[in-house]
Amino acid sequence: MNTAIPPGHWDVAIIGAGPAGCALACALAPGHRVLVVERHVEASRLRIGESLPGAALPILARLGLDAAFLQSGHTPRGATVSAWDTAEPVWRDSLRDPAGTGWHLDRARFDAQLRQAAAARGATLLHGAVQHVARGSDRTWQFDVESAGLARRHSAQVVVDAGGRSSRLARLLGATREEAEPVLCLHVFLQPHDDDRDQRTVIEAAPYGWWYSVRTPSGGRVVALHVDAQDPHRRQWRDPGNFFAAARQCPLVAGVIGARTAPTVEVRPAGASRLSEPAGTGWLAVGDAAVAFDPIASQGLFHALASGHHGAQVIADILAGRPSALVQYARETQAVWERYRVHAALTYSGPERFRRHPFWAARRVSHATLPAQRAALAQAGH
Ligand SMILES: Cc1cc2nc3c(=O)[nH]c(=O)nc-3n(C[C@H](O)[C@H](O)[C@H](O)COP(=O)(O)OP(=O)(O)OC[C@H]3O[C@@H](n4cnc5c(N)ncnc54)[C@H](O)[C@@H]3O)c2cc1C
Repeated sequence: MNTAIPPGHWDVAIIGAGPAGCALACALAPGHRVLVVERHVEASRLRIGESLPGAALPILARLGLDAAFLQSGHTPRGATVSAWDTAEPVWRDSLRDPAGTGWHLDRARFDAQLRQAAAARGATLLHGAVQHVARGSDRTWQFDVESAGLARRHSAQVVVDAGGRSSRLARLLGATREEAEPVLCLHVFLQPHDDDRDQRTVIEAAPYGWWYSVRTPSGGRVVALHVDAQDPHRRQWRDPGNFFAAARQCPLVAGVIGARTAPTVEVRPAGASRLSEPAGTGWLAVGDAAVAFDPIASQGLFHALASGHHGAQVIADILAGRPSALVQYARETQAVWERYRVHAALTYSGPERFRRHPFWAARRVSHATLPAQRAALAQAGH
C-alpha cells in the first residue's frame, strides 16, 4: 500500500473480494488507490462452483495471474458425459474444446490466491461491511466501513459492487434485481475416496431438474441437483436420505457416487439474475453482482474475471475524465445477458422427453422459435 495516501481516501472502493472484485483490484491497484471491503475474513473452505472453462486462461494472463494459476494444482477437466437430449449418454472430449480443456478448481484455493494477488499488487483489503453510502457535494462517495463494532468513514471517486448475487451496494444506490426462472441448487461434498479416480464431468437430466457431479482436486466430489425454487418437493431433497435415493435413480450419477453418502445437503439459490442497470454515475457492478448465470452455463467464474478486468479499464477511463466508458460497459453487459438467455433457452429445450414436466416446460422455448434463436446467436458470432 502507498503510505502517502490520505487515510480513508481512495480512488476506488470495491465491495466484495470474490473473483470479480479481486480481478478488478489486481488490474487497477498498481496505479491507483484501491480499497476492497470483504465481509468474510477467509475464502470459504468448501464452496460449490469449481468448473473453470479454458477461455478463462487468456483473462488470467492479461491479469498476470496465469503462471501462478497453472502451478496451483487445479486439475485439468476430463471429458463430459451427459444424458441430456436423450437418456443415451453422450461423450464430449474436453481436448476438442477450441478454448482448451479447462479445470476443476480447488475453489477455496483459487479464491484465496486471487485475494493474495490483489493485496500483493497494492490493494488494501478490509474486513467489514459498508454502510451509509452517499455522494458528497464534491462528487466523491462517502461511506462507513463497520468492523468489529467500530465504524470508520472513507471516501472514494468510484465505488464497485462486486458483492455477488446480493448486489447490496447497487441496490442501495437504487438499482433493482431482475430474476429469470428461479433455481435452487441442493448439493453435497463427498469425502475423498481412494477408488474414485473418475475425472469426468457427469451431467444428467431428470424429470424434476438436472444433476451434475465432478471430482475436485482434493479427491472429494461435488454432487449437485438443480430444481425449480418453487418445486413442492424441494424441502424433501434437503434430507440426505432422499437426496441420495434420488441420485441413485440416475444411472450416470449413481455410477460415480457408488455407495457414498454425506451427512448434510447444502442449498444455494442458483437461478440467473441481473441488475436493472449494471452501472451509473460513479459506480459499476461486476461479476455476479451485474449478471449471474444458471450453473448449466458454467460461465460465472469466466464472467467474474472478464468483467472485473473490463471494469478496471472502465474505471481507469472515468478517473482520466472519460465517463462515457460506463455507457459502453452497460451496453456490453446487456449483450452478455441477452446471449446467455438465448443459450439457456436452447439448452433447456434439449430434453424433449421431459417437455411436459413443469421444470422443463418453464424453461424451454417452443420448437417454432428455435431456428430464430439459433440465427440470433449465429449473427452475434456464437
Ligand atoms: C450452485 C452453483 C454452482 C456454480 N458452479 C459454477 C461452475 O461450475 N463454474 C463457474 O464458472 N461458475 C459457477 N458458479 C458461479 C460462480 O460461483 C460465480 O459466478 C462466481 O463466484 C462469481 O464471482 P463474484 O466475485 O462475482 O461473486 P462471489 O464469488 O459471490 O463473491 C462475492 C464476495 O462479496 C462478498 N460480499 C457480499 N456482500 C458483501 C457486503 N455487503 N460487504 C462486503 N462483502 C460482501 C462475499 O462475501 C463474497 O466474498 C456456480 C454458482 C452456483 C450458485
